[in-house]
Amino acid sequence: MGFEQNLRKIAPYVPGEQPGNVNKVIKLNTNENPYPAAPGAEEIACNLKDKDMRLYPPTDAGKLSRAIAGYYGIDTKNIFVGVGSDDVLATAFLTCFNSQVPILFPDITYSFYDVWAELYKIPYKQIPVDEDFKIKKEDYLQENGGIVIANPNAPTSLAMPLEDIEFIIKNNPDSVVIIDEAYVDFGGESALPLLKKYDNLMVVQTFSKSRSMAGMRIGYAFAGDRIIQAMNDVKFSINSYTMNYPAVEMGVAAIEDEEYYKATIAKIVKTREKAKKEFTKLGFKVLDSKTNFLFISHNGVKAETIFADLKKRGIFVRHWNKPRIDNYLRVTVGTDAQMKKLFEALKEIL
Ligand code: PMP
Repeated sequence: MGFEQNLRKIAPYVPGEQPGNVNKVIKLNTNENPYPAAPGAEEIACNLKDKDMRLYPPTDAGKLSRAIAGYYGIDTKNIFVGVGSDDVLATAFLTCFNSQVPILFPDITYSFYDVWAELYKIPYKQIPVDEDFKIKKEDYLQENGGIVIANPNAPTSLAMPLEDIEFIIKNNPDSVVIIDEAYVDFGGESALPLLKKYDNLMVVQTFSKSRSMAGMRIGYAFAGDRIIQAMNDVKFSINSYTMNYPAVEMGVAAIEDEEYYKATIAKIVKTREKAKKEFTKLGFKVLDSKTNFLFISHNGVKAETIFADLKKRGIFVRHWNKPRIDNYLRVTVGTDAQMKKLFEALKEIL
């Protein structure tokens, strides 16, 4: 046995496959944005200087916080920036979920939530979504040590109305309620305006999807002063320098180019709506997506078979061997050209 018994054992989160030859395959499996980041961000990457690598970056990513603050009209003391929203959410779990009473989240949701709960030994209860994969607000009235809801939810792509989100926040004043808005920019309603009213709310967003910067790893949270202060205390107890210099500078450039950001979102939403119709014509049930992906199930051919046949053709989508969703596929919205190739392949497979 020896040291073995002291090793921490955890079944980790399994991200979608990142094939080595990304330029040869059509990658619709990790909800990345198919369009480049804002041109200003790329320019910064091309002009990095010695000092940008040699010196430690500012510990508070202040320049990026100020840019986010300016864009959303929120005070910097109510913003926490991290290495993708995964880092922000992990820090939030460690900081805010410290009760013996279970935290609550849906059974079908982002599959990192139960991993963090296991890692940090946070008791948790998974609340079944209904048969249409909808989250029922009344289920979140029971005693709890915290709540986390992805809105829109993943992998279902469904958005909850803001009134339902407010109902959950309002009825749980003694719990931190985290709303994970990784996909909100593609058609959801953000809970950000509720921040003034509720000090138990945290809203988490990311640059990975709508700002095409998954590789730079930038995420952020909005919350009241006390929660952000506690998050910073935890962060500074693990790693002071989480945000590297290029990520901060490139993030600022992305925030400053609102026109590019809006145009990219509009392109994806347009392709998504077209793809919904195409999938339906091919015999797929398609959930009403408010995200940059579609959650689909075919009326004849098994999801697993479609997944494997697409992969053979170099088209990557996502499939989970999990109860309730094992006959579904999650397909990221790509460019029109990528979607055309996908539909050509599906016509051969089905
Ligand atoms: N939340 C949800 C619901 C997601 O699907 C993802 C992407 N895998 C994330 C958070 C994390 O994204 P990132 O760390 O790239 O910001």
